[in-house]
Amino acid sequence: MGNPILTIDLTAIAQNWQGLNSLSGKAVQTSAVVKANAYGLGLVPVAEALITAGVQHFFVATTTEGVQLRKIIGPEPVIQVFSGHGPGGTTEIQAANLVPVLNSPEQFRLHQTSLPNHAFGIQLDTGMSRLGFQPDAWSEHRNAILAAHPVLLMSHLACADTPDHPMNRRQLARFHRLTDGLNIPRSLAATGGILLGPDYHFDLTRPGIGLYGCLPYDAAQPVLNLSLPVIQIRHLTPGDTVGYANSWTATEKTRIATLAAGYADGLPRSLSNKGNVYHGPTPCPLIGRVSMDMITVDISHLPGIPDSLNIICEHQSADRLATDADTIGYEILTSLGARYERRYKGAQ
Ligand SMILES: *Cc1c(COP(=O)(O)O)cnc(C)c1O
Repeated sequence: MGNPILTIDLTAIAQNWQGLNSLSGKAVQTSAVVKANAYGLGLVPVAEALITAGVQHFFVATTTEGVQLRKIIGPEPVIQVFSGHGPGGTTEIQAANLVPVLNSPEQFRLHQTSLPNHAFGIQLDTGMSRLGFQPDAWSEHRNAILAAHPVLLMSHLACADTPDHPMNRRQLARFHRLTDGLNIPRSLAATGGILLGPDYHFDLTRPGIGLYGCLPYDAAQPVLNLSLPVIQIRHLTPGDTVGYANSWTATEKTRIATLAAGYADGLPRSLSNKGNVYHGPTPCPLIGRVSMDMITVDISHLPGIPDSLNIICEHQSADRLATDADTIGYEILTSLGARYERRYKGAQ
């Protein structure tokens, strides 16, 4: 009995970085966001592939991720940490030479007292109400902060995947108001912001999801294939039921394949009786509930019994699967199961 196999195309990730890089001008630096284990795809191979592609500047969410990344990419490239400098983070920030993006007056104070000459960035809250200095805290502390020479001023867009959303222009205007004339490198755009055009690029862009082949970067090269082995076949007659809670009942003779991945592997339980797996280009509908370790699919229409079926492939993107599961590609990727055998294409 085979294992589920997740194939990750590192060449496609490198091409996606180059593609996103080419959307901004030569003077704009393009970083890479590799938080959450490179969106679930594996920090070590992904970071190595990005370094080979020419990436010099990385972002992670936490200092712990920054320490892991530093071991992989060596001393030179910049690593910035979105969560900033919290109590207990000082030793790691210093040892791994991380650049915290400070989010509050408290973080600035802690940074100044514990690592006074250590590089830092600043995140400004231009309307997402999540992380960063709010405009009044920024005006209050701005002079002290500028005197300590931040290396980056950044903010994050709430609605960048909806190009016509008025929030984009509103946040852009606020970012200008808070940072114009300061002569410090600025960053506003993640993947969605890059696609909004040059007004949003400033000095540094921060793509994540687009590198990994997902929307809103619709020109992305596909990165993933997820193949699930068929572990058992059932021949049903009308009235037979499938899975927990009898949520599916056969109305005719039906052939069912049981596949070896379930919600413990990151296949959302909301795919119960929804969505498809693929045999080549042929869809096979999921029927019954998603179990912890298995799903069941209708293969009555296939000519034979396949060894495996694909749930992410050229015929079904992670975004398509996400739509059926009522979620987003980001969540599908970052939930990809630890039990999958990961194979990397294009690794040196
Ligand atoms: C995750 C994140 C990014 C990357 O966003 P994508 O939409 O994946 O490109 C950029 N900036 C910040 C602050 C983030 O939290």
